[in-house]
Amino acid sequence: MKTIRYKGIRYLFYCIRDILRFTPIVLWGKLVSSIIEGGLSVWQPILIAELFELVPDLGPGNMELFKRDVAALCLCIGLPSLCFVITRGMAICNDCKKESCYGWSMFEHARKIRLEALEDPKVLDTFQKANASYANQAAGSKLLSCLFIIIEAGLVCISAVIVVGRFSVWLIPCMALGFLVHLSVNLYSEKHRASIYRGQSSLRRKRQYLWQLFSRMESVKEMRTLGFGGYLKRLWVDTNVEVVREMQEVDLKAARLGSMDGILKNACYAANVAGAIFLMVEGELAVGQFAACLSAFSLLQTELTKLGDKIGDFFTCYHQVEEYYDFFEIETEAEGSRTYRPFRQGIRLKDVHFRYCGAAEDALDGVDLDIKKGEHVVIVGVNGSGKTTLSKVLAGAYLACSGSVYYDDQDVKELRREGLYKDISLVPQNFIHYNFSLRENICISDLRHREDDKRLKQVIADVGLEELAQGIGGSDTLLGREFGGCELSGGEWQKVAIARGLFKDSGLIILDEPTSALDPLVEYDILTRFLELIQGETSVIISHRVGICRAADKVVVMKDGRVVECGTHESLKNAGGEYSRIWTEQAKWY
Ligand code: ADP
Repeated sequence: MKTIRYKGIRYLFYCIRDILRFTPIVLWGKLVSSIIEGGLSVWQPILIAELFELVPDLGPGNMELFKRDVAALCLCIGLPSLCFVITRGMAICNDCKKESCYGWSMFEHARKIRLEALEDPKVLDTFQKANASYANQAAGSKLLSCLFIIIEAGLVCISAVIVVGRFSVWLIPCMALGFLVHLSVNLYSEKHRASIYRGQSSLRRKRQYLWQLFSRMESVKEMRTLGFGGYLKRLWVDTNVEVVREMQEVDLKAARLGSMDGILKNACYAANVAGAIFLMVEGELAVGQFAACLSAFSLLQTELTKLGDKIGDFFTCYHQVEEYYDFFEIETEAEGSRTYRPFRQGIRLKDVHFRYCGAAEDALDGVDLDIKKGEHVVIVGVNGSGKTTLSKVLAGAYLACSGSVYYDDQDVKELRREGLYKDISLVPQNFIHYNFSLRENICISDLRHREDDKRLKQVIADVGLEELAQGIGGSDTLLGREFGGCELSGGEWQKVAIARGLFKDSGLIILDEPTSALDPLVEYDILTRFLELIQGETSVIISHRVGICRAADKVVVMKDGRVVECGTHESLKNAGGEYSRIWTEQAKWY
């Protein structure tokens, strides 16, 4: 399908598309009800005029007509209320479905976003805005409701103007003036509010972040022990005041304009009534026509206010819709066309460069590396040397800005990523402590074997968690404090993360600083055991401690985003370079 160029039209189209997909019955219901309500409102002043003409000469000759008009008037008043109740009911019944559908769409897109894009603060802002808009996810249907109400109120206004215009065209400009002022005030206020709101996205994210620090268990503990609660509170209050103050200024200005607009609107209404009285006194309007004019004025007063309000609301909803759909404009992972085949020879990085979004320098600056199938590689280097970035690029999670990563002869850029991810087990530095059972925490990496007790037991034993599993009452015990489960120590959580990596059936396993919370002896024990367990499999361990390098087939030393040394532990130790320096430094500790 050809991409629609203009964002406004495109988003409106998305809105209609999604409502048709998720809650079509609500859309059609609202459309029908708007047409009915609009049509009946127009009919009302005409009926009133007829009734006023009929009542003075009421008799057997026009009784039938009178009864018909009264019945029609009752219908005009009663049916819109019924329509409102029905459409409201339909909307409430569909709310839950709608919420899941909009949330699910966001989740589906989030799954496809390029992982490196999630490092970009602008993308995080868009994410936050879309989340807020999703929380108010009725925006899409509200937008359409506004559109229908605008059409409906517009039709009523046009008809009322025609009714009034039939009697005297002089009454029309005064009505138009009141409406134009009301509309301008609304549009100005909404535009101003939207631009302030948009400019605040970083500030609002900061406020949310600070609030989370108050509500997260880990940060609350640290706040208490370090005693920075007061400081944090001040930061939150200052940020909140900044957010609220700006919005308050907008609201105050809108309220001032609104009261002036109200006075003007009422003056216009009064001028119209005075004009109609004048025309009646002059004999240009009959009593029935005068009554019809009054009914049309009051209808117009209500409908024009509604029209002005809804046009303002339309833009507010549009901004929310825009924030929701902007999220879907975040670039997704460029999927290659080739199906991944598990590698047989090895992995090769050729002159790989990688730079984070907005960063001034490359995090990887021309990395060349060969990893043979079945080889155990340890990557070492000081903090910030590029080890974690390298692990992400190696796993295909981040795509190199230039240069290539090959699995045998398969360039990662050309591969369908899902197949590749299935063959890689990555245990990241900041792995998640899932507040699930121990079994789920481990099996989440390969849910196909979730019920394989033998495999699970073996992995638990391999990482030395057997005793803990027994102590907590088995692998189905809930972990984490969030829902009243069993809390583990930092080192125990790390063992769970390693177990998760081991549980997955994969051709390459990458551990990024997996044992930093363990003491060096336990770390050495676990990692050497880990290397024994995965004999024949390819592994990459990232560590800033060099102890494990003795058990590795190859040691890669990173510095300033480059591979500065590569070889066996013995050869590098004797070479007198960077590795030898780190080794000697760390040897002093033990
Ligand atoms: P290491 O794992 O060796 O500590 P990293 O790979 O984490 O190093 O970081 C390499 C470089 O990239 C560092 O200079 C770091 O500041 C920078 N870096 C890491 N993550 C980001 C990010 N999300 N955005 C910008 N720069 C980053």
